[in-house]
Amino acid sequence: MATSSHTASRLLHSGPAGAAELGEQLRAAVADMAGWMQEYGEFSPHPSMDVELTALEQATEQLRVRLRENYPFFHPRYIGQMLKPPHPAAVIGYVTAMLINPNNHALDGGPATARMEKEVVSQLAEMFGFGAHLGHLTSSGTIANLEALFVARQTHPGKVVAYSADAHYTHARMCHLLGVDGHAVPTVADGTMDLQALADLLRTGTVGTVVATAGTTGLGAVDAVHDIVTLCRTYGARVHVDAAYGGFFRLIADDSPDGVAAAPFAAIAECDSVVIDPHKHGLQPYGCGAVLFADPGVARHYLHDSPYTYFTSDELHLGEISLECSRGGAAAAALWLTLRLLPPTSDGLGAVLRPGRRAALAWAHRIAASDHLSLYQRPQLDILTYYPTRDRLSEIDRASSDLMARGMQLPAAQSLYLATFTVDAAALATRGHQVVADVPRGRILRSVLMKPEIEQHVPSLHQQVLDLIADGQR
Ligand SMILES: *Cc1c(COP(=O)(O)O)cnc(C)c1O
Repeated sequence: MATSSHTASRLLHSGPAGAAELGEQLRAAVADMAGWMQEYGEFSPHPSMDVELTALEQATEQLRVRLRENYPFFHPRYIGQMLKPPHPAAVIGYVTAMLINPNNHALDGGPATARMEKEVVSQLAEMFGFGAHLGHLTSSGTIANLEALFVARQTHPGKVVAYSADAHYTHARMCHLLGVDGHAVPTVADGTMDLQALADLLRTGTVGTVVATAGTTGLGAVDAVHDIVTLCRTYGARVHVDAAYGGFFRLIADDSPDGVAAAPFAAIAECDSVVIDPHKHGLQPYGCGAVLFADPGVARHYLHDSPYTYFTSDELHLGEISLECSRGGAAAAALWLTLRLLPPTSDGLGAVLRPGRRAALAWAHRIAASDHLSLYQRPQLDILTYYPTRDRLSEIDRASSDLMARGMQLPAAQSLYLATFTVDAAALATRGHQVVADVPRGRILRSVLMKPEIEQHVPSLHQQVLDLIADGQR
């Protein structure tokens, strides 16, 4: 008889605290997949691929030494770029599937993981409120956006693609690649697209697609997707949403004190396409972006007839609706397993994003109240921009880069990893900062608070930044 009262549930922690359990799970996965392989009958491994275990140990030792030449992306005191290790569930999903190495280009290359891909894409579509949809994973947000702009060109040939001046640089670059005219619409004081300027541009009748960014890479600014949709419907333009960074904030877009603004994220449901990067806020290893289209009919723009693939079914193959060919099925398995455990709901993955949002608000509050630091603008997601208070932009630039450098030079157990962000005099002035623009542009500090653990560290992180400023003035 099961005596459930004696079986305390064990946890798999993320980070180094879960190393032992992760090791156990990986060992079990390798053993179990080897068992499946053996069902097909024994065969001798070819000696050409045998390696000496001692040679392997030496090489892996070198690998581990070389990997120490990294910044501590996993640690709450690393708040530099958009980087963090995947969830251990993603690692288990990835490694387990990688042992087979399925290729999600075609159902024949990886029937199991191709189905998982369709399931996770449906989950993402549901999260955004897309009903019928066409979509697939990609190896990055860049490729996902390329596909969205490719479809934009095919459906509106000869027309302009408009994006905000603060949109990811990939949009200008991909327009160039696609031979499409790209147009950068200015931003207003909170870093979002200037709707008046957009309306003026739409009135010219030249625009085919508007790219709204739901979470800019620099500031985490969320364009007013709801207003952009309304404008675009009036002028017959399509709307693509680049939610590569911000997409999962849809889960906490509830106007609550520790959530984000609801309206822009709710309006994604009415847009023509959306891009999201599970390898940013979806706890995945790199190699996992996604593009979704509201109209399944856009598949016609991809159609091709390959003599090599697609022999087992009449179902639409992933390779028929994507520009990339080979793609790791392991990425789909990783995301599938992660979403089984942390589903795309407010209580699931949403609970992983909320602490970072709270951290951004709490730290912004401290910065705004400080005599030594100034808040560049109010955070709309979990990205914070601020600077050591100085009279001149050249001094702000020097103090920011100096502070960042000194934080990284501290001994490992005290080190602080920040990043800088370049702003120009006009952007500071629009935001009401009283700074003498003695140079045209300068660096301020930027912190991405994308790990939930950071919330607990806000008071000490703030103090550490203040201490570094004080030390710098000594
Ligand atoms: C990161 C990002 C991209 C590019 O995605 P990659 O996955 O790095 O190729 C595009 N747009 C936005 C808004 C991003 O944050």
